[in-house]
Amino acid sequence: MPYDTQPKASHFINGAYVEDTGGTPIDVIYPATGEKIATVHAATPEIIENAITSAKKAQAAWAALSGTERGRILRRASEIMRDRNHDLSVLETYDTGKPYQETSVVDATSGADALEYFGGMAATLTGEHIQLGENWVYTRREALGVCVGIGAWNYPTQIACWKGAPALACGNAMIFKPSEMTPLCALKVAEILHEAGLPAGLYNVVQGMGEVGNALVTDARVDKVSLTGSVPTGRKVYAAAAAGIKHVTMELGGKSPMIVFEDADIENAVGGAILGNFYSSGQVCSNGTRVFVHKAIKEQFLKRLTERLGNAVIGDPMDPETSFGPMVSERQMNIVLGYIEAGKQEGARLVTGGAKLDREGYYLEPTVFADVTDTMTIAREEIFGPVMAVLDFEDEDDVMARANDTEFGLAAGVFTRDLTRAHRVAARFEAGTCYINTYNDAPVEAPFGGSKNSGVGRENSKAAIEHYSQLKSVFVRMDDVDAPF
Ligand code: NDP
Repeated sequence: MPYDTQPKASHFINGAYVEDTGGTPIDVIYPATGEKIATVHAATPEIIENAITSAKKAQAAWAALSGTERGRILRRASEIMRDRNHDLSVLETYDTGKPYQETSVVDATSGADALEYFGGMAATLTGEHIQLGENWVYTRREALGVCVGIGAWNYPTQIACWKGAPALACGNAMIFKPSEMTPLCALKVAEILHEAGLPAGLYNVVQGMGEVGNALVTDARVDKVSLTGSVPTGRKVYAAAAAGIKHVTMELGGKSPMIVFEDADIENAVGGAILGNFYSSGQVCSNGTRVFVHKAIKEQFLKRLTERLGNAVIGDPMDPETSFGPMVSERQMNIVLGYIEAGKQEGARLVTGGAKLDREGYYLEPTVFADVTDTMTIAREEIFGPVMAVLDFEDEDDVMARANDTEFGLAAGVFTRDLTRAHRVAARFEAGTCYINTYNDAPVEAPFGGSKNSGVGRENSKAAIEHYSQLKSVFVRMDDVDAPF
């Protein structure tokens, strides 16, 4: 291994790396080769206790700092992240298998964006003054306390920052549990935050599977839980958090529609469909995996799509020319192969791809099915892999009803040159994050999140502040108290 991927220890607690080899070993596999690149240990009850007590102890003094002071540390951390972008991107590629071509421009950079954005916002957080005649109320925007972040495996650095940055900006402490599949990157985020001056105990990382997450979520000292994961896990975590009346943010799965009208710019629509189905080998929650294409342009769309997919450079993720990498794990690859088989069995037309690549690692071909109908499994279930389903339509009302006929509501996109139609369609989408003539842009300035079963709450933007702070009202009486006796 040309790069040292073994972390100094499994966990980062109270400002330092901590090991406890009593926990279940978790091997970290490089998806491009199947090679073991590191081993960490799941948190033992002692590690979990240590993380919660240090977070609890550090939080009050952190919340008592001014927003400017807190923000300065986050912004310093964002600069360190940008300076180390190359090393962090290489590590992200080892952790996830995503090509360096992607990780070098998306992962640490979007993490740094979140630290910079919320670092800048920390100083602007205020309550309000409400005049009531002579009397008045003022509100204090206060931290929630100890927040738990639980991450999925597709964007380990970004998720660690998207949850950590607003939590810290608002004066909370964070305990982050990465997915067991990708445990390496969040440790670097913790290291950088502390190097930037974050006091010990405010950003802790503990490793482990679902039971470690569950132990954190059910602890009475934890005030908020933010999960990025699948809908079934979201149901469990939301229910566990509800038992303790905790605040939650749930960023869950999707089966998002993308509608391409007959007047769309075909090259842009094809580009959007590629970004929304094959970036990160399709392992993106907001992907537009149900692509409704107007019958009049369907064959033209499929032709250009197939031609452009032929330009994908599939191979060594560390080669900067590579634009399409492996799936995160053998298990995920097999799940996706199962869906491809279901697509064939249920009568969808395989336009391109459909097979595992004959090479080491967990590589699948970019796969497109056409003539997909609404009831097919590949049109209903989240696949989380490089499989695009193309469905036909002719009428706007009909396609809107079909686009919205799903339990999910994470994202949706429309391609058209008709301005009025674009906004009408965006308004009619039952989804939290919509796109017009583009797909999957996720700037930190814009709220990101889902409706329906795709989640509650929003990450990024000013909206995230609402989910990491609470308002206290203070009534101030200037006249006399009017008591009945
Ligand atoms: P999972 O739902 O399997 O896991 C998510 C995280 O929750 C993991 O860290 C997992 O631990 C942990 N976990 C599992 N069970 C519990 C439990 N009972 N209590 C507490 N924590 C638990 O998702 P994946 O990691 O497989 O990620 C893929 C999913 O994430 C997809 O559905 C995708 O759509 C969604 N996603 C959503 C995004 C969004 O922003 N809306 C963004 C990215 C992904 P472990 O796996 O280590 O056991």
